[in-house]
Amino acid sequence: MSRLLCIIDGMTDASFSVADYPLLAAMRSPAQVQTTPRGQKTESLTCILALLGVSTPPPFLRGYVEALGAGIDVDRDDLILRISWLALQEGRYGAPVAAPSALRHSCAARYHCLGGYQGLLILPGAAAMLEQIRVRPFFSKGSNKAADLRPQGLPLLAQIFDQNCAEGICPAFWGQSRPVSLPPFPGRAAVVCGSGVMRGIARLLAMQLLPVPGATGDVDTDLAAKLATAQAAAEEYPFVVLHINGADEASHRRDAVAKHRFLTRVEQQVLRPLCNSRHTLYVIADHATEPSNGRHRGGPQPLFYHAMGK
Ligand SMILES: [Zn+2]
Repeated sequence: MSRLLCIIDGMTDASFSVADYPLLAAMRSPAQVQTTPRGQKTESLTCILALLGVSTPPPFLRGYVEALGAGIDVDRDDLILRISWLALQEGRYGAPVAAPSALRHSCAARYHCLGGYQGLLILPGAAAMLEQIRVRPFFSKGSNKAADLRPQGLPLLAQIFDQNCAEGICPAFWGQSRPVSLPPFPGRAAVVCGSGVMRGIARLLAMQLLPVPGATGDVDTDLAAKLATAQAAAEEYPFVVLHINGADEASHRRDAVAKHRFLTRVEQQVLRPLCNSRHTLYVIADHATEPSNGRHRGGPQPLFYHAMGK
């Protein structure tokens, strides 16, 4: 018998009501769990790590976890930055646009397109510069002047920014990072997921990452394939993490209807069969994500629990 932890990313919000989900309502809810570690941002990385027992993650972790999740090899002294590609018009940046497949000028940097508007930049041997770099995250409040996104503290990075601000797009750098080692997750454990950050967490904690064909990390994911993979994993591993990301993405798109529809499908197509198995099931959100404003919100999350015969 296995323990299955189903993390439903961004499940809750101010208007979330367990009464809308009859199976969850019928499960025991023995606790409210504070998932955001003290002093940390409310994001999937920190909250999921906390759920897995890492309550004080090292700083500057996100870019490295993205690289791990994408299967990108990095060396210990590499500097890693996330790139969000934004529309550029008359010196001002706007909405995210599709990431290009390559940088405009080849240089010492390595660039990886991560799909959507996301990319990753690797500067070999530059990890020692990590704390000198100053970048203004594009989602900060205030000005949307492209010049304010120009990184400070590392001339090569500023040069890459200048070279790639052209033809209506500009790179917004953020999430500077370097490789770190964390102790492996105690015990044999498997992870079933489709999102890059969860794949990265699995590799960071040396948990067995199980591929799921058709898992997209969004509402169009193949729930039947994820269920089948989780059920097979539960026969082999004493602890299985099943991460489901679509509700968070729908919330970021401010689509409350799609979020509710997706959660209903998750309940019927994933949670119900798992409740009818001989395994113990825990269900929790990593954090709330509000469809009203598209943002994450911290605060205690209800833990749901089901074990056959209890
Ligand atoms: Zn999110």
